[in-house]
Amino acid sequence: MSGSKDIQTEAKQMTKQIERAAAKAKANKCRVKFLGGRTYLVIRTYLVITPQAHKYTVRFHMLDGQRYGVCNCKAGAANMFCYHLIGAAIADTAVQHVRAR
Ligand SMILES: [Zn+2]
Repeated sequence: MSGSKDIQTEAKQMTKQIERAAAKAKANKCRVKFLGGRTYLVIRTYLVITPQAHKYTVRFHMLDGQRYGVCNCKAGAANMFCYHLIGAAIADTAVQHVRAR
């Protein structure tokens, strides 16, 4: 069966996507604004403003202790990793750290 091979290929592509998005996030510093959500709510929303002044909304939700993010840009709609997601994730991690104190 080639099923497990396909999953491996998919995982590799996913890793590449994340790496590319992370590099882009570094090159294009976005401003990230926390829009809402409380620690007891599982959904947190961020407004991401790119250097080109494009605005995207990134939402995170927790499922089984894992963080899942969705961006409303073209890449995000296609279920791809975009750099807005990375930028928002960095901000989200910082917010969570501050709140945990
Ligand atoms: Zn995006």
